[in-house]
Amino acid sequence: MKVFIETYGCTLNNADSDVMNNILESAGHTVDRGTLRLNEAAKYDYIILNTCTVKKPTEQKIISKLERISNLNKNLVVTGCLASATPDIIKKASPTAKILKTSETIKILNTLNPNIKKTEDAEKPSFINSNGIIARIPISEGCLSNCSFCETKFARGPLKSFDENVILKAISRSINNGSYEIELTSQDIGAYGADKKTNIAELATHAASLDGDFMLRIGMLNPEHLHKYLDSLIDALKQKKVFKFLHLPIQSGSNKILKDMQRNYTVDEVRYYFEYIRSKIPNITISTDIIVGYPTESINDFKLTEDLLFEIKPAITNISKFWQRPHTKASKLQQITANEIKRRSTILSREIREMQVSQYNKFIGLKEDVVITENNNGLFSGRDIYYRPVAVLSKKLNLGEKVTVEVTDTSYACIISKPI
Ligand code: SF4
Repeated sequence: MKVFIETYGCTLNNADSDVMNNILESAGHTVDRGTLRLNEAAKYDYIILNTCTVKKPTEQKIISKLERISNLNKNLVVTGCLASATPDIIKKASPTAKILKTSETIKILNTLNPNIKKTEDAEKPSFINSNGIIARIPISEGCLSNCSFCETKFARGPLKSFDENVILKAISRSINNGSYEIELTSQDIGAYGADKKTNIAELATHAASLDGDFMLRIGMLNPEHLHKYLDSLIDALKQKKVFKFLHLPIQSGSNKILKDMQRNYTVDEVRYYFEYIRSKIPNITISTDIIVGYPTESINDFKLTEDLLFEIKPAITNISKFWQRPHTKASKLQQITANEIKRRSTILSREIREMQVSQYNKFIGLKEDVVITENNNGLFSGRDIYYRPVAVLSKKLNLGEKVTVEVTDTSYACIISKPI
């Protein structure tokens, strides 16, 4: 069979698509990935949409795509968080589509053809066999939190950590296949292992001791878990094969809003983590996420978020507007107007862009090594050991190539360099 997989959303969702991709190819099917052009749909026996539920605009884009594919009478499987949390929305857009829960993506073969025996119950990492320069390794599903704005929780449910040995084998397989950047991914890396008497610090330390030329990226970590293993996580981050990078979504700079969001940490704890981690690993890249326009966010709460960001200066700040999502506690609250949310997010985005450019400007003249992991139509880029995005201006480079560069310029999104 010829199958097309279109994926929306986060690294974990892309790892789920990698799992389905490998299962299908191992069974002799051919799989294409990317964004499906409708005029090419006819050549596929099956189309798989792996959906995301975090933002309303993404939902609208998915629904529109679903309706147009349905009109072509194609065999359609819809998986991912939107399908798992709100199957009714999918069924309305495409009544004949088969829905596959995120926890069941390893059953894709049987979904495509019910006559095929169900895949034995194995954990997702055992189906990861990446041969790309970047390997995405799912380490758990679900989480331990109940953030009041989050619908992903309804899609992925409670925490289920995968076995460490299965994960380490998946990493070794990918390294042996030539992967260099190993991304450990889940909904909340911070919760990993809480159901198995282990944690992300132990897993990262064991992974960093594997043979091979690679670098490990530790994914998104809810700060509420940091106190459990802070020093051992810092030791893991100091390992040679681990990017000096942490993604700590703080979401707001107001304790009142953190409480309303049911985020289990305080602004002072965030301050302490940023300061302490930087004191142990100078120049570490700490990125964060901020939600603007949470229903109970007053002008003063918004100001507190601005002030905190200017105080702790995260290296990267991803700003999201608040979106009212089905089933969530926050969706039942009196909402802030779309115009006001837009006004706040425009102000903060501008301030953050200026902050990021001034931070990146400090690196002009820096000479460092970068491994090329992306080629966007001849624009090569990679990551340095601080996982900073580095564009490398060169006519010809190869994925996986290590180059020594000099930083010559910056933008708000990356540093720009040339090989030396
Ligand atoms: S940690 Fe919070 S935001 Fe993240 S998946 Fe869990 S409930 Fe959602």
